[in-house]
Amino acid sequence: MQAARNAKAATAPPSFRSRTVRARVTRKMTTTNAAQLFINVGERTNVTGSAKFRKLIEQNDYSGALTVARQQVESGAQIIDVNMDEGLLDSEKAMETFLNLIASEPDISRVPIMIDSSKWSVIESGLKCIQGKPIVNSISMKEGEGQFLEHARKVLRYGAAVVVMAFDEEGQADTIERKVSICERAYKLLTEKVGFPPEDIIFDPNIFAVATGIEEHNGYGIAFIEATRQIKEKMPLVHISGGVSNLSFAFRGNEPVRQAMHSVFLYYAIQAGMDMGIVNAGQLTVYDDIPLELRELCEDVILNKRPDATDRLLDAAPRFKGDGTGGKTKEKDMSWREAPVESRLAHSLVHGITDFIEVDTEEARLNAEKPLHVIEGPLMAGMNVVGDLFGAGKMFLPQVVKSARVMKQAVAYLQPYLEAEKLASGIDQLPSAGKILMATVKGDVHDIGKNIVGVVLQCNNYEVIDLGVMVPAAKILDTARKEKVDMIGLSGLITPSLDEMCYVAAEMEREGFDCPLLIGGATTSKVHTAVKINPNYHKGQTVYVLDASRAVGVVSNLLSDTEKTTYVDNIKAEYEKVRAAHLANEAKKQRITIAAARANKFKVDWDNFKPVKPTFLGARTFSNFSLAALVPYIDWTPFFQTWELAGRYPQILTDNKVGAEAKKLFDDAQILLKRIVDEKWVKASGVVGFWPANSIGDDISLYADDKRQTEIAKLFTLRQQIARDPSRNRAHIALADFIAPRETNIADYIGAFAVTAGIGEDEAIEKHIPKTDDYSRILAKALCDRFAEAFAEVMHQKVRKELWGYAKGEKLTNDDLILEKYQGIRPAPGYPAQPDHTEKATIWKLMDVQNSAGIELTESYAMWPGAAVSGFYYANPDSHYFGVGKVERDQVEDYAARKGWTVEEAERWLAPVLNYDRAPRIVAAA
Ligand code: SAH
Repeated sequence: MQAARNAKAATAPPSFRSRTVRARVTRKMTTTNAAQLFINVGERTNVTGSAKFRKLIEQNDYSGALTVARQQVESGAQIIDVNMDEGLLDSEKAMETFLNLIASEPDISRVPIMIDSSKWSVIESGLKCIQGKPIVNSISMKEGEGQFLEHARKVLRYGAAVVVMAFDEEGQADTIERKVSICERAYKLLTEKVGFPPEDIIFDPNIFAVATGIEEHNGYGIAFIEATRQIKEKMPLVHISGGVSNLSFAFRGNEPVRQAMHSVFLYYAIQAGMDMGIVNAGQLTVYDDIPLELRELCEDVILNKRPDATDRLLDAAPRFKGDGTGGKTKEKDMSWREAPVESRLAHSLVHGITDFIEVDTEEARLNAEKPLHVIEGPLMAGMNVVGDLFGAGKMFLPQVVKSARVMKQAVAYLQPYLEAEKLASGIDQLPSAGKILMATVKGDVHDIGKNIVGVVLQCNNYEVIDLGVMVPAAKILDTARKEKVDMIGLSGLITPSLDEMCYVAAEMEREGFDCPLLIGGATTSKVHTAVKINPNYHKGQTVYVLDASRAVGVVSNLLSDTEKTTYVDNIKAEYEKVRAAHLANEAKKQRITIAAARANKFKVDWDNFKPVKPTFLGARTFSNFSLAALVPYIDWTPFFQTWELAGRYPQILTDNKVGAEAKKLFDDAQILLKRIVDEKWVKASGVVGFWPANSIGDDISLYADDKRQTEIAKLFTLRQQIARDPSRNRAHIALADFIAPRETNIADYIGAFAVTAGIGEDEAIEKHIPKTDDYSRILAKALCDRFAEAFAEVMHQKVRKELWGYAKGEKLTNDDLILEKYQGIRPAPGYPAQPDHTEKATIWKLMDVQNSAGIELTESYAMWPGAAVSGFYYANPDSHYFGVGKVERDQVEDYAARKGWTVEEAERWLAPVLNYDRAPRIVAAA
C-alpha cells in the first residue's frame, strides 16, 4: 500500500483570521447554506398553470408537451409536476398518455414525477403508469379522516411519496396555528395509522397571494414561513413544499417583480426549512441580483414589516417592469492594480488571483513593522471578505479553495521573514482558532471531500492536521492526544467505513477522550450518526457534517465558549428525535420472507433467449490505455458535484446562479486535463474477462470452460424483500435472475472488469503541483476519478460491440452512454443491486487484478488507487439496475451459510442494508 505518502501530516497551516470575525461569519453560514438542499419542482407541465401547455394537450400535440417537460428538466427541475385538471379534458386519459410517453424518454423520466390533481381518479390512473417512485400531489383531510386514510394507504401501496395540503374539514389553513395543527394531525394519522414513512411526507402549508390590497392577506407570506419553521421543528423528517407562484398573483403581467418576490420569499422560507417548491425552474432571479430597492420592497411585503408595504410595492412595481434583474456586466479591467496595496491583496484573495501576490505581499511587508503584521492585517482582512461572501452564499467552493491558494502562497512567501523574526524576538507560533485532526478511516481511500473541508477550515483560521487515508483508529487517537487537538473529523466513502467509524467512536470513549467527533463523507448520514455512531461515545459530542459548506459553522459552534452548550444540547435533542423516529419507522416497515421473495423472482423468457458467446473466455489485460481516447467519454456532471456546484453538464455552464463559477472551474479543468494527458501523469490499466455461467438459486456459478463441469467461482447475490402491492406485479429481484438457470441448459455467460486511471497519481501531483496549491491538487484528483469512470464506460462499450460482441451494431452518443441506454448492465459490488463489497474479492481472484491491472483491495474492500472502478457485465436485454433495499434476518442467515460466514460476519458486511437492529458489534465502554 502506498499509504505512507498520505499518512504524512500536513504542515501546520498558518492562522488567517480572528475569533470575532469567525463567529460572525459562521452564524451566517449555518443558515444560508440550507438553500443548497432545495428541490425545484418544475411547474410548466400543468394545464391550469400554463396556457401553452394546455393548448398543446388540447391539440393532442404530445410531442410538443414532452418538449415542455424536457425544458423543465434541462433548466434544473429535479421533479416535474404534471397536472391535467381541465374541465374539457379527459384528465385520466391525458395523464396516462403523457406519463407513458415520459416513461420512454430517459432524459425526462430520470427525474421523479409529481402527479398533480384534485381528482383521486386522475391520481390513480397516473400512479399506474410510473415505474420509479412517484409523488402524489395531493391528499388532504378536506373530506374528513376516512377518505384521507384510504387515499394515504393506497399511495403507500404504490410506494409513492405524498404531498399533504394543510386543509381540513373547515377549509384551507391560513394562520400559523392552523397550518401547524393540521399538519400535526395529518402526521399522526399517517405515521401511526397508515405506517407512512415520515421522510415520504411532504407538507404543503399553503402559499397564498400577498399584496392583494386585502388587509387579511398581508400576513400570508410570513405565516407560511413561520409555520414551516414550526413544522420542521416538530416533525424533522418531513419535507415542506409549496406552489410559489401563487404568492405574487397580484402582480400578473409584471414578471420582474414576480420573480423578485419569489426569490425573496424562498430566501426566507428555505432558511425556515422549506426544502421543495413548485417553481418555474430556470426563471428564478438570484437574490443578490435583485435591485436593492426592489428587494427591500418585496421583503417588507413578504415579511409583513410595515402597514404600507403593499402600497409602496404597487407604486414602485411599474418602474421595474422593463428589466428587473439589474444584471451586472463584468469587464476585465486592471484598474484594481492602482489601488493601495491592502485593497490589491484583498482583491487577489477574493478573486483567487495569484499573479501579483508575491509582489504585493513584498510591498506590504516593506510597509509593515513586522512580517507577521502583513498576515494579521491585510491578508486576514481579505480572507474575512472571502469568509463573509461564502457564508452569505455569494461565493462557491472552488472560489474559496482558490482564495486559500492565494493566501498560502502569500504566507509561504513571508515564511523566511517570519522565521528570521522568530529567531530575533522569540515570538510564538501564529495563533489559531482551533486544532482539528482529520482522517479517512482504515480501509477507505477516498479523500477529495475531506481535502476540501480541510482547506475551507484553514481559510477560517483553523489549524488542520490531516492524517490522509486508511488511518487506523490507534493512530488517530495517538496523534490527537499528542497534538492536543480540539476535535477529530472522520471521513469515509464506502459502506464498511460506517462500522469503522463506530469503532473509532468506541475507542475514543474507552480511552477517555471528550472532544467533539465530526462525521462526514458520501455514505455517512445524520441518521447513521445519530443511531449508530453517537451511542458509542458519551463523553464528547458526535456531529454529522453534511458538506464542506457546513464545516465551519459546526466547528465554530463547537469551539465557542458562549454557544457550545446550547449547540450541543440542540444536537443531542435532535439526534434523540432522529433516533426515535428512525426506530419507529423501521419497526413499521413490512418485509416478506426470503422464500416468498424467491417465489416472486424476476422472470426472463428463457425459451426465447439466445446468449451470445464472448470472443474469448478468461481474462484479458489492457495496460497503458490511451488517456486521450478516454477524454470524450468523461461524464462531467459528477465533477461539478464534487465541488458542490449543483446542475447538469453542459447546462450548468450557463446556469444563472453557479454558471460563471462552473465555467471557470471547467476551463481550469480543461487546462489541467491536457497536461495530465500530454505529460502522461497517470497510467490507465484494466482487465476484463468472461466465463460460462449459470444461476443456481440466488448464486451464479462460473465455469472453467463450455463443458460447464468445473466451477471456478461462485457469485452470491441478494434479493429484494420489501413488501409490495401484489396487484402491481413487480418482482423481487436478485442479480442472479438475469443469468440463465442451470436447469434451462442454456449456455449463458457473465463478464467482469476492473479498471483504474490512478496509477502514478500521487507521485505526479507531488511532482507537478506545489504544496500551496490545494486547488490544483484537488482538481487533479477529481480528474483522475473522471478518467477512471470514463475508462469503465469505454471498456463496457468495447465489450458490448467487440469483445463479447452481443451488441455489435450499437450506435450511441456519449449522452446515451451516460443515460445507460445500452443493452446490459455493469453492476458494481457495494452498489444498490449488490450491496456486499466483499464480492469484489471474486473479481480479483478470477482475473488476478492486483497484478494484471495494478489495483489492490483494502481490508474494507476499497480499491487502491482510489481512481478505480470494478464490477460485472450482464448482457441480458432484460437486465437493469435496481436496489436490493433492506433485507431480513432470514436472508442474512441464508447468505451467511452460502458464503461460509458466521451470521455476525454477514451482519457486519451487510450492516447498511439490514432491516433489523443487530446486536451492536461495538459495545461502548463503561
Ligand atoms: N457516468 C457516471 C457513472 C455513475 S456510477 C460517472 O462518470 O460517474 C454508475 C455506475 O455505478 C454504473 O456503471 C454501475 O457500475 C454502478 N451502478 C449504478 N447503479 C447501480 C446499481 N443499482 N447497482 C449496482 N451498480 C450500480
